[in-house]
Amino acid sequence: MAQKKWGMVIDLDKCTGCQACVVACQSENNIPINDEALFNQRRAIQWIRIERYWEGEFPNIKARFIPVLCQQCDDAPCEPVCPVYATYHNTEGLNVQVYNRCVGTRFCANNCPYQVRFFNFWDPEWPDSLENQLNPDVTVRSRGIMEKCTFCVQRIRRTSRDSQKHGNDIKDGDRALNPACVNACPTDTLVFGDLNDPDSRVSRLAESELQGHNGRGYHLLGELGTNPSVIYLKKVDENAALIEERH
Ligand code: SF4
Repeated sequence: MAQKKWGMVIDLDKCTGCQACVVACQSENNIPINDEALFNQRRAIQWIRIERYWEGEFPNIKARFIPVLCQQCDDAPCEPVCPVYATYHNTEGLNVQVYNRCVGTRFCANNCPYQVRFFNFWDPEWPDSLENQLNPDVTVRSRGIMEKCTFCVQRIRRTSRDSQKHGNDIKDGDRALNPACVNACPTDTLVFGDLNDPDSRVSRLAESELQGHNGRGYHLLGELGTNPSVIYLKKVDENAALIEERH
C-alpha cells in the first residue's frame, strides 16, 4: 500500500465565513479561550482562522473569506530553524509538533510565512463549566509551548489503528478521520484525504484544479516554494472573468 500523504483542498467559492470550522477546531484541540484581554494583547490563539478581505472599489465591493491553517509544507521553513527538532516532517506528509521537545525559542513561528504557529505565553485556563469538555485525546499545552494545526493528527492516528485492528483500509471521507474543521463546515468547503491515493476526492480535485489554464487551484504564497499540502480553489465571480491569466 502506498504511503499516505495527507492534504486538503479549500474551495473559496463555497466558504461563507461562518467560522464553524474555527469553533470546531478550538473545541477538538483544547485551544485556550481567547478572551478580550488576550485578544487586545494580540495573543489570541486560533489554529485555523478566517481572514476577511475586500475585493473591488466602492460601491462594487465584495467581502471575501479565506480559511488559513498550517499548510503542512513539504519544504517547511519552520522545520530547519528548530534547534531541538520539536517540529519535523513525518512520513505521512505532516508537519508535526512535538510539545515536550519544544523549548520555546519561537524561531519556527518567526520563519512561518503563513503565521499559523502560536506560542503559549500563559498557562491556559477554562471556566469550571467547561473543564469537562476538554478532549482527552489531545494534550493540554502548558506555558512556553509552540502549537499549531496538524490536521487533527489524533483522529488520523485513531482511525489508522482501528483500520489496522480490523484489517480494513481507511475509507476516503471517513468522518472519524476528517479533521474537526472539515466535519463542521456546512458548505463542504474543506476536503481532506490522502493525496497519494489517485481515487481520493482530495487528490482528484487537486489534480484537476491544478492543471492547465482553466484550473482554479493554487498554493498560498506559492512563489515562496514551500510546497504546501493545502490547495486553494479560487473564488468564482460571475461578474468577473472566471480565471485570471496565469503567469
Ligand atoms: S466552516 Fe466552512 S464555510 Fe464556515 S468559515 Fe469555515 S470553511 Fe468557511
